[in-house]
Amino acid sequence: MAATAKERQLPIAGEWIETGEWLEVRSPYSGDLVGRVAKAGAAEARRAVDAAERAMAEPLPAHKRAEILVRVAGHLGRRHEEVARTICAEAGKPLKAARVEVSRAMSTFTMAAVEARKLAGEMVPMEGSQAGAGKLAFTLRVPIGVVGAISPFNFPLNLVAHKLAPALAAGCAVVLKPASQTPLSALLLAELETDAGLPAGWLNVLVGPAAELGDVLVEDERVRLITFTGSAPVGWKLAERAPRKRVTLELGNSTPVIVEADADVEDAAARLAANAFSFAGQSCISVQRIYVQEAAYGDLLSTFLARVEALQVGDPADEKTDVGPLIDRESRDRVLAWIEEARAAGAEVVAGGDLDGELLRPTVIVNAAAELKVQCEEVFGPVCTVTPYRTLDEAIDLANGTRFGLQAGIFTRSLQTALEAARRLDFGGVMVNEAPTFRADQMPYGGVKESGNTREGPAYAVRELTETRLVVLEL
Ligand code: NAP
Repeated sequence: MAATAKERQLPIAGEWIETGEWLEVRSPYSGDLVGRVAKAGAAEARRAVDAAERAMAEPLPAHKRAEILVRVAGHLGRRHEEVARTICAEAGKPLKAARVEVSRAMSTFTMAAVEARKLAGEMVPMEGSQAGAGKLAFTLRVPIGVVGAISPFNFPLNLVAHKLAPALAAGCAVVLKPASQTPLSALLLAELETDAGLPAGWLNVLVGPAAELGDVLVEDERVRLITFTGSAPVGWKLAERAPRKRVTLELGNSTPVIVEADADVEDAAARLAANAFSFAGQSCISVQRIYVQEAAYGDLLSTFLARVEALQVGDPADEKTDVGPLIDRESRDRVLAWIEEARAAGAEVVAGGDLDGELLRPTVIVNAAAELKVQCEEVFGPVCTVTPYRTLDEAIDLANGTRFGLQAGIFTRSLQTALEAARRLDFGGVMVNEAPTFRADQMPYGGVKESGNTREGPAYAVRELTETRLVVLEL
């Protein structure tokens, strides 16, 4: 193991435990061992649920929860560089993007602290009906119960933060299963929560075989909500298997953006080039399908290609790198196969499409038919398509022609066009004059259609994580 590699135990029931088995975490860039993590199975999962249930038997007052959340944000700030380097090492995320992720996680915890302090029910207007006359009624927001949280590899810190911080704000204990490829950031965050004063059992982390751990979360009735971020097939299957639980899903997309002829083409090209290839396209809202009105097509494409060619491909730990590796070789080979499929079908690869050493270069494809995988599936790699259109109606139909619906974007100088697109694009969010990859962590973020069934962002997540309890007083 490299001298810098870490060995990590799992926090369960307030102790950091070993299990006798270890799971290796390797750099997606070099293949070097980054760390070893204790490997959990169903027995540890059941202990974790027991611990979470016990923890919730002694509720933490909202102001204490808020204080802990604020302290976690502070610890993230103090250990910012170490956390960013952990993300970079285990996920292969370029260091500059990893630093942004840490800052965003600080914001997620800070906004969750606000929600913890504000959490309240509402008055019910009882006098509004004859039946209610003479009574006073209000609602309380009570924690839903033990939360099972499952997170993906691509934002191994901030997407874990989007599970843990709102759950604590809502007063729920958590059993977390982070992605097996990137558990170190989650475990570092668990350490910071402990340092911030989170009592035993409120956060338990399991790393190990997904199906075995997932089965416990699905089958144990005490787990009242499963919050899942990851791929659509896994997410929808979980929801199907747990019909009596609340299962909140944040899933994939095939992200479209429309560039109208009246747009600021320079600005659009710059934002799209950065956001189609950031973390090698491994974001659920990475720019994938760019539709450009015919009059601006040539101009946009040449400006965009110049920006794409200027992106630095290389070692994610290098300060200058924009585009690093995909999470594993299998993913890289799948994306290469999709590019080949497009080429074989007559599409033209106008940038990239090949390897730079072991890394896939940023790839731009034109003349790609709508049925090709690079258009209609989620690529989750450094690939985007550019396609001309004539009218806004046509562009909206193309953008909506997907089973996904997370975020979309439009560049235009016309307010009327922007608002029309906002009304007609069938997505959870529409960005105007910004890449559809934009996210600030307090936003309601989530999708329609196959992209999910919920909104994250602490203010919205706490609604899912609490139940309404009605109190009626006879006066
Ligand atoms: P994934 O393969 O679905 O894995 C996500 C998580 O689910 C991992 O922790 C994984 O564990 C776990 N898992 C896999 N099979 C499971 C099962 N049968 N039962 C319980 N848990 C199971 O997704 P990924 O490749 O890590 O992430 C990429 C996907 O996430 C993309 O589709 C992307 O669009 C989506 N995503 C969505 C959002 C959003 O907010 N909407 C944000 C980021 C990513 P193992 O790692 O142990 O397999």
